[in-house]
Amino acid sequence: MYADIIVDITHEKLDKVFQYKILPELEGELQIGTEVIVPFGKGDKEIRGYVTGFSDKTDYDEGKMKPVLSVAKGSLAIESRMVSLAAWMKEYYGGTMIQALKTVIPIKKQEKARKKRRIRLLLDEAEGKQQLEVFLHKNQKARARLLAALLDQPEQDYELLTKKLNVTGAVVRALKEKNIISLESKTVFRNPIRHKSQDREAPEFTAEQRHAINIFREDYCKGVRKTYLVYGITGSGKTEVYMEMIAQVLEAGGQAIVLIPEIALTYQTVMRFYGRFGDRVSILNSRMSAGERFDQMERVKSGEVDVMIGPRSALFTPFPRLGLIVIDEEHEAAYKSEQTPRYHARETAIERAKREGASVVLGSATPSLEAFYACKCGRFQLLELKKRAGEGELPEVYVEDMRKELRAGNRSILSDHLKNLIDARLLRHEQIMLFLNRRGYAGFVSCRSCGYVVKCPHCDVSLAAHKGGKMLCHYCGHEEPQLHVCPSCGSGYIGGFKAGTQQIEEMVKRQFPSARVLRMDMDTTRTKDGHEKILEAFSSEEADILIGTQMIVKGHDFPNVTLVGILAADMSLYSSDYRAAERTFQLLTQAAGRAGRGRSKGEVVIQTYSPEHYSIEMAAAQDYEGFYAAEMEYRGLMGYPPVEQLLAVLMTGPDEKLLETAAKYLKDFANRVDKRGILQLIGPASPYVAKVSDVYRRVLYLKGPDYGLLVEVKNRMEKYIEINKGFQTMRIQFDFNPMNVF
Ligand code: ADP
Ligand code: ZN
Ligand code: ZN
Repeated sequence: MYADIIVDITHEKLDKVFQYKILPELEGELQIGTEVIVPFGKGDKEIRGYVTGFSDKTDYDEGKMKPVLSVAKGSLAIESRMVSLAAWMKEYYGGTMIQALKTVIPIKKQEKARKKRRIRLLLDEAEGKQQLEVFLHKNQKARARLLAALLDQPEQDYELLTKKLNVTGAVVRALKEKNIISLESKTVFRNPIRHKSQDREAPEFTAEQRHAINIFREDYCKGVRKTYLVYGITGSGKTEVYMEMIAQVLEAGGQAIVLIPEIALTYQTVMRFYGRFGDRVSILNSRMSAGERFDQMERVKSGEVDVMIGPRSALFTPFPRLGLIVIDEEHEAAYKSEQTPRYHARETAIERAKREGASVVLGSATPSLEAFYACKCGRFQLLELKKRAGEGELPEVYVEDMRKELRAGNRSILSDHLKNLIDARLLRHEQIMLFLNRRGYAGFVSCRSCGYVVKCPHCDVSLAAHKGGKMLCHYCGHEEPQLHVCPSCGSGYIGGFKAGTQQIEEMVKRQFPSARVLRMDMDTTRTKDGHEKILEAFSSEEADILIGTQMIVKGHDFPNVTLVGILAADMSLYSSDYRAAERTFQLLTQAAGRAGRGRSKGEVVIQTYSPEHYSIEMAAAQDYEGFYAAEMEYRGLMGYPPVEQLLAVLMTGPDEKLLETAAKYLKDFANRVDKRGILQLIGPASPYVAKVSDVYRRVLYLKGPDYGLLVEVKNRMEKYIEINKGFQTMRIQFDFNPMNVF
């Protein structure tokens, strides 16, 4: 037998299978996914690799073949399922097999497990007392102390006991050698949340919740596995629905993974799951140490845990009986990896579920176009929750046209209406959130007087201001000189919009001197738990106004917040990105959902320079389906996902000329592969950040109706890049249906 091995070197050139002999002593030790040590290259350097398959034939000279040396120490056998999922990811998203394997193994290195040692007395009481006399007689005080303590309680914790009695290791060893005591050691797993009892019961479900749960239950019992989309407004009780579905899966002997974006993975949320399922739950997050995360995987393997909660990477929890994967806030961009393979957790979850006989439940108040489109096409099943489950009604939403404010002489960042509403709240001791929409800020150029935004004539995305007085399109490379006068109204108020949370904080403090103000952004949340601390302080009403970026939109419930102000709602609208409108609609809807979660009705003020844009109109009307229809029309017209498929080829390298030439070659090559001319090739263009620490960047877009065709072109390109020396100094990555501009 021969083993197919992938060696652990992240180098495209070595991303192929090497065959090794399996010597008799290793027979039966190797499985697909086992990490092994093999000799490699000249000098037979010993390196690590993964078994990806077996064969009983070889084309090589058997005599010259090298053997697998050993199973890597401290390695974790990734089950063969995970290796084949990695192979799928490599094909579907590009990159090397090594990169894919590293993605599906959540913990890369074996961390030292924590051990607990115990001392146990081996003598019975009579023998023990006799021995104690001997020690006392010989004046061996330490030994006598230890033995006397063990006669009181024959089994005790090593560390605690030796410390309390002040006895040394030598004393313990001496007693052990005389067979008076034995030492035992037990591995203990760190548990991020300890001794939480199950103290939560399911609520009395609403009719809508019951309907969703019943459909899932009936399917699950019948053995039907599929993908569901729980589309429910904020506060409609989606989390309760997930928990009930999980309870059913557990009852049937299955296990569940719950993905929650890191930013929403708050203590509050996690405790709801612990409260319902107790110690069968575990969590993963980026704040945990490598050791803690490793232990969670060990707990999974030992069968202690049946529910794993975590961000994107928790998708690869090695449950043997996976029954359900829940993805909450499925529209979040964080579900797309920014490292090769640039996988999307939604698609990868569906693939894993298909392979392992599990179902997928997606949830959102503002579903991604992809998910809602899949419902319309019948690939996913839609489950709707239209009403709020707990207390609180939907807020009143006002749109303030900032162009009018400017005309009326108000140059401040707050509209008069918002100012008045803030004053009223401060008097009533209710809380206010001010949300600065900075998402996707990429220097778009707009007119403060009429709202005009400069767009690319070819791509219908906004042009971005660059240094040197140019405006650029990041999709096709179209270029124009910077404008100083608005072409639409002739005003001089045209330029990039700039305002930070800090400026807003200063301005708010000046305008409302009696208010207590908290600010949450990248700067104030740098420390560990900084994020949680600010939310906690606001939650316990230590402040009247919370100012922040998109960070404040998720996670906590603040029942005393009755006013939400959204400043610069347009900011995300004109980022040069085809998902800009979708992102804007989502942000505005989520931000509005923060108001009026308690007993009193909330109010929301959306400040904008483009009140007539459909994403703002529909967000104000809280009309998702209206938005969906308008946005799908735009995507279809422009050939953007999910109607068509888009592949970005991201190229970086130190030599700009060479990069430019290589990008053109790659484009020509793609044109040759696409013989029937089905694909549309756009670029190569400079991305917004065209150079990072002297590394230049270019991007090429391929658009087409068929994902499979794009995969085929990607595969051909990967080979072309591999065999052509000209690409050697460059890094080339593939990004299918990208979430962000490069
Ligand atoms: P979502 O996840 O959709 O935002 P949650 O599940 O967090 O909604 O529910 C919002 C609030 O309503 C929570 O405080 C929750 O405990 C409560 N809730 C959910 N379902 C019910 C119900 N059927 N009866 C009473 N309260 C409920
Ligand atoms: Zn204008
Ligand atoms: Zn363009």
